[in-house]
Amino acid sequence: MNERTEAKIFWSDQPDQLDNDCACSTASVLPAAKGREGSPLWERPPNLYLEALPERHTLVFNPFGPAGVVALNAAALAELEAFRVAQPIESDTARQLAALGLLQPQGAVQGPPQVKPELLTAWLHVTNACNLRCTYCYVNKTDEAMDEATGRAAIDAIFRSARLHRFKGVKLKYAGGEATLNFELVRTLHHYAKSLAVEHGLDFQDAVLSNGVALSNAMLDFIRDNGINLMISLDGVGAAHDAQRVFINGKGSFKIVAWSINRALIRGVRPHLSITVTGNSVDGVAKAVAFALDRDLPFNLNFYRENDYSKSQADLQAEDERLIAAMKAAFKVIEERLPQRSLISALVDRSNFGGSHTHTCGAGHNYMVVDHKGGMTRCQMEIDKPVTTVHAADPLLALQTVSSGFQNVAVDDKEGCRTCEWRYWCTGGCPLLTRRVTGRSDVKSPYCNVYKALYPELLRLEGLRLVKWREQNSLNL
Ligand code: SF4
Ligand code: SF4
Repeated sequence: MNERTEAKIFWSDQPDQLDNDCACSTASVLPAAKGREGSPLWERPPNLYLEALPERHTLVFNPFGPAGVVALNAAALAELEAFRVAQPIESDTARQLAALGLLQPQGAVQGPPQVKPELLTAWLHVTNACNLRCTYCYVNKTDEAMDEATGRAAIDAIFRSARLHRFKGVKLKYAGGEATLNFELVRTLHHYAKSLAVEHGLDFQDAVLSNGVALSNAMLDFIRDNGINLMISLDGVGAAHDAQRVFINGKGSFKIVAWSINRALIRGVRPHLSITVTGNSVDGVAKAVAFALDRDLPFNLNFYRENDYSKSQADLQAEDERLIAAMKAAFKVIEERLPQRSLISALVDRSNFGGSHTHTCGAGHNYMVVDHKGGMTRCQMEIDKPVTTVHAADPLLALQTVSSGFQNVAVDDKEGCRTCEWRYWCTGGCPLLTRRVTGRSDVKSPYCNVYKALYPELLRLEGLRLVKWREQNSLNL
């Protein structure tokens, strides 16, 4: 058997939507491998990113293609390189390379990815109360909770807009404050939303976002039995977490959160960990990642976002060099124990390498935030500035047409991003943070230098993971 008949291609499955505290961006869909009309010849795009991987594999990434990281063995790479001279597609390997966007019709110019969000995501602020006082929190907390009538009106409003805008499904995030402090409402709204989804033929998924300090066994059982996702915030191990996630009396919450995570696992719930990296926790990020990997927990790393209510902005904002060094240390931990699941969309703040896309999040597009009184905003970080209510005929339309404040523009409309090779994966960062820091939302992220320093490492890590788990990730051609 010669090498050509053993061509192998490994690529990342699109990771599941993350249960972080934002509306995730929607990735593009792989196009079918078909030629441009009248152009039977295909060629290798000129701008491919290539890097050697172990065991004669090569990482290939097309910054302007639809797929993320792809690993090729030597035979598959040889076939790709043969397309430096345009030619017809005649083999299964070439067909697959084309499907992954690693071959293109001769002379084709790749434009922005075509992305059509299929899910309408909504944040339900079921309470404005919280049992913690985290140093970076953006919520101006009170003892007020959402009542049942408001909750039901919120669900009606979300499904009303979902149907008017022809979404295929709805995703709810029960949040706060601390959602478990109003868990009876979570139970009620879950059942009500599910019944509406069935009635209207819409897909449905939901998640509880929790700080993990008041999660009872009964709540965990309800979450498990009803197929609800659980996200728990954990910012480090021991002192790193306790430096910023504290009770009202100032005591750290790590021990009780770790206990809740272990109880969740025992009861058959695998929580997603949301790890917020600030100047106070940055040196502990590698340990936080190790904690997640030890327990095979999905996780994502978020960078601190400056806001009106956080304690000390100067302490919370890590300097770029320190943040880059800490993130590289975390990547090293991951490299030593590469997990079976892809982490490529979870490691660098709001970037998503699960598929090319144009917007960082769904704010102003396919995301709604409902406060505890029934007011609605585009983003949970603006929850105290409602612009419409659950009683509007089409609240999503009202959110999509907000012209003041931050604007969630496409990355091609951001100054500094337009010519960046990473733009359809990074998309320029959180527009609200960028506006807060720079006064504009149509410019590159304040974290741009950190992102650019980490992306090559991120791709390499995913390439190593694909090679390690290649039997599970292979397309044997
Ligand atoms: S923020 Fe920086 S890395 Fe991201 S797309 Fe813009 S220029 Fe590129
Ligand atoms: S604007 Fe920023 S904080 Fe708000 S949903 Fe988007 S990424 Fe998240």
